[in-house]
Amino acid sequence: MKKSFSVKKTLDDLRAITQNLWWAWNCDAQQLFNELSPQLWQQTNHNPVALLASISEQEVLARLGDPEFAERVRAVAAQFSSYMNEKNTWVATQANNLQSPIAYFSAEFGFHESVRTYSGGLGILAGDHTKSASDLGIPFIGITLFYRQGYFEQRLAVDGWQQEQYITADPSKLPLTIVTDSEGAPLRCSVEIGFSTVHVHAWKLQVGRATVYLLDTNLIENEERYRDLTAHVYGGDVTTRISQEIILGIGGVRLLRALNIAPSTFHMNEGHSAFLTLELLRERLERNRPLKEAEASVKEQCVFTTHTPVPAGHDRFSFDLMNYAFASMAKKLNMPIEELIKYGRVNPNDPNETFCMTVLALKMSRAANGVSQLHGKVSREMWKNLFPQMPVEEVPIGSITNGVHIGGWMFRHTSRFWRKKLGNDWQQHFLDPDFWRHAVDPSVVPDEELWALRYTLRRSLIEFARLQLRLQHSRFGNGAAVYETVLNPDALTIGFSRRFATYKRAPLLFNNLERAIELFNDPQKPVQLLFAGKAHPRDDEGKKFIKYVVELTKHPLLFGKVIFIENYDINIARNLVSGADVWLNNPRRPLEASGTSGQKIAIHGGLNCSIMDGWWREAYDGTNGWAIGNDESPQSAEVQDRQDAENLYQVMKEQIIPEFFERGEDGIPRRWLQRIRRAIATLVPRYNTHRMVEEYVKKYYR
Ligand SMILES: *Cc1c(COP(=O)(O)O)cnc(C)c1O
Repeated sequence: MKKSFSVKKTLDDLRAITQNLWWAWNCDAQQLFNELSPQLWQQTNHNPVALLASISEQEVLARLGDPEFAERVRAVAAQFSSYMNEKNTWVATQANNLQSPIAYFSAEFGFHESVRTYSGGLGILAGDHTKSASDLGIPFIGITLFYRQGYFEQRLAVDGWQQEQYITADPSKLPLTIVTDSEGAPLRCSVEIGFSTVHVHAWKLQVGRATVYLLDTNLIENEERYRDLTAHVYGGDVTTRISQEIILGIGGVRLLRALNIAPSTFHMNEGHSAFLTLELLRERLERNRPLKEAEASVKEQCVFTTHTPVPAGHDRFSFDLMNYAFASMAKKLNMPIEELIKYGRVNPNDPNETFCMTVLALKMSRAANGVSQLHGKVSREMWKNLFPQMPVEEVPIGSITNGVHIGGWMFRHTSRFWRKKLGNDWQQHFLDPDFWRHAVDPSVVPDEELWALRYTLRRSLIEFARLQLRLQHSRFGNGAAVYETVLNPDALTIGFSRRFATYKRAPLLFNNLERAIELFNDPQKPVQLLFAGKAHPRDDEGKKFIKYVVELTKHPLLFGKVIFIENYDINIARNLVSGADVWLNNPRRPLEASGTSGQKIAIHGGLNCSIMDGWWREAYDGTNGWAIGNDESPQSAEVQDRQDAENLYQVMKEQIIPEFFERGEDGIPRRWLQRIRRAIATLVPRYNTHRMVEEYVKKYYR
């Protein structure tokens, strides 16, 4: 009797773990799910809720009859419980004046491959920010939309042209619960779009100690055309776009009010959510506060992070669209649309200027920042006309350099490796440079073991890639078997994966095709390159880059050495950033505001080779990776592309490839390993979101 009760209790513990994304940065928890069914774990793209739903309760109870397995479930449950109840967090000990929550608004959050509410780097950053906020004990609420169909699934046609497919998520197979009111009924809010009222409900997601609310318009009581408003990440035309942003910004504030949550700070992660400031303004005007005072009070509560110098990355809406979308809302603000639109103009009285979300956010925030030092500078230059009385250096846009949540990017081998070397609590030391200087000492990690880790991770990536390639090519008939033997575990392995926005210049290395082919065909020094990435559905130029890269993978002299893995997501990213020896990043400077993918590789012993843009410009010190070119941006894009391609080729040919193949008697590349040690010691303790979020607290949240 007693025994079966305790097995049931253990099953409850296991279920509780699946309902909080905390497991997404705990390798022990992931291992349990994998053990229950390796096949389902893979088929569900690592979704433990879906996995448990596919196994009978009878089976799970029986499996928990294995005392060793049950013991490990209980151990993970104990870790989870002690995490959730931790009293001595960083905030409790170092920043205890932070009492009311930070409300962090973002159009996308990338937490894990199984929760498809992200498209790229901005979402990943928001997800990593949330995980670190939880780890540090910050009272933190995330606000976003519930994209039932997520971002698209990428399939390549036989000619390499990207096709988009959408999969509808089943919320019951995700760790989501419906948000209810105090009586337990599903909570409803509404927003005005044009003259319509759009009803919104919300889902709740626990991410460690942080809570994220996802707004959803898929309700019977909505006019049909509004039910799909939140179906896709950045879906539809400009009218869908402004409607999504109204739901995010205005709906988000109304949801918080309905839940009686009073944030101390509203943090706008990119301009998409900036309409929230107009709702905060409306609340104050409704209480009869004079306009100037109301504006000042809104400003006092808001902070804003801008994420890109690319003009298309800043939403702009025409007068006519604003006039339509804000028809009711302007009345509620008691403001003619001609007045309302001035909040989004640099020059309020220029009738030709469109309404810009970044301008709105900048005007209505107490503080603003870019995401690297260089990007801060570029942003001050970009928005100086908003502050005409100030010299450009004093434009109030600061910078906090992005980071990554290292625990969430941990590949299981890497996690096991460092735990063995550094002890069980090694993940408590991400911010301690002395700890990492010590960690890379050869007395802690001898060359042989570091090199063994690199081989393990490289092989693991190659086997993963072969499987993916076989699957993706099996659609086209019988030829897929050749992918069982592509790639070489002894080769210098280069990774390039990110959104295929054209400024990121994926095919730059192939600018001079003949020379590139030579690089890949030295039998003494084998080199290979793995690509992955999606182009936005309306970005035909990006799709052309994908098509070109896919054509390269079929070139007889590049086949099996240059490959493209389709349907880039967090899982593919985790495999690539752990297995690649070199992470290639060659954007057109200064358009990569920060970039974060290169930050994910240091803990795995990978090395960066990058343009001096974004985070790398401040991280590179001559010993911890490589720079492509120097610290300047040529005048024309064309000149820059030519120079950068030349510099990239040089650094590959003269530095990277020879250093990788410079081996001792024992086959070990000593100089290469020394560079890895430098990279870990200098990058891990700095380019992580614990450091980043602490900076947000110290500079902007308090
Ligand atoms: C890290 C990551 C990105 C961001 O990559 P950048 O090189 O910073 O553009 C985009 N997508 C996924 C899935 C990622 O994991």
